[in-house]
Amino acid sequence: MNTIESRNPFTLQYKANIIVRRAEHLGLCFGVRDAINFARSKVTEHPITVMGELVHNTSVLDDLKKRGVQFKDKPEQVETKSAMITAHGASNRVRNHAKMAGLKISDATCPLVHYAHQQIRKLADAGCHPIIIGRRGHVEVRGLTEDLAACDVILNKADIDALAVYPSYGVMAQTTQPITLVRILVDYLRNRFPSAEVRFVDTVCQPTKQRQQAAVELAKQSDVVLVVGGANSNNTYELARTCAKFCSRVHHVQGPDDIRADWLVDADKLGITAGTSTPDELIDAVERKAHTILDK
Ligand code: SF4
Repeated sequence: MNTIESRNPFTLQYKANIIVRRAEHLGLCFGVRDAINFARSKVTEHPITVMGELVHNTSVLDDLKKRGVQFKDKPEQVETKSAMITAHGASNRVRNHAKMAGLKISDATCPLVHYAHQQIRKLADAGCHPIIIGRRGHVEVRGLTEDLAACDVILNKADIDALAVYPSYGVMAQTTQPITLVRILVDYLRNRFPSAEVRFVDTVCQPTKQRQQAAVELAKQSDVVLVVGGANSNNTYELARTCAKFCSRVHHVQGPDDIRADWLVDADKLGITAGTSTPDELIDAVERKAHTILDK
């Protein structure tokens, strides 16, 4: 039980007729949904190991494990004959490593991540110094950078200030970065290196753009926003950051048990959004829990 409720259950006041609404676009994107279904289908044919985290969500991962899907981080740890690459993609270096280890690869890379791989390769082949706007160490960014001879990963203006000078830069973004931030950083880069050529390719995926835009609309109209998604999910983190620009009471929750009753006090409008790896059932469970608290 929530500690505040148990200390004094009569002090929390909720508005009657509070409106609970969801963002127009939220939750699982087609890339993650397809990858989950791919793993479910493959494991009925033969044992399979997913390399890395298929989706940043423990309930989905637990379900796949119950069905027999195994999870390992590196090719050399895989004990099945087949290994699966997730929607986040992988570098050729990792693919070759897996093949050398005798593994048969099943590839669930999202087509929009494939597109990002093609674009960074084209920019590098054209002689531009590759720049990726994204989170260093994130699995998608590792996949994008590991085959490049040189590149920089940036996420803010200070990172740009620290860049070496090149005659030309080729810039693209991790698919789940907010496009508004990406455009700000590209403009800043152009101003920082006015004599350099800066080529930019927009690789932020459409589902991310839709969820970001819908989150802005939701946050503007809400007193409290719950953002549902895994702690490691980059796009959930970014959704929460975006909402926080328009609403002062934003909470990132991984599931219904994370909701604190005092968050909903005095709110007229509660908004709910969710990252691209958050399944529908989890969003439903969070909304049910909010109603349970409000109906007490
Ligand atoms: S977030 Fe975008 S790029 Fe990533 S899996 Fe989903 S649709 Fe594909």
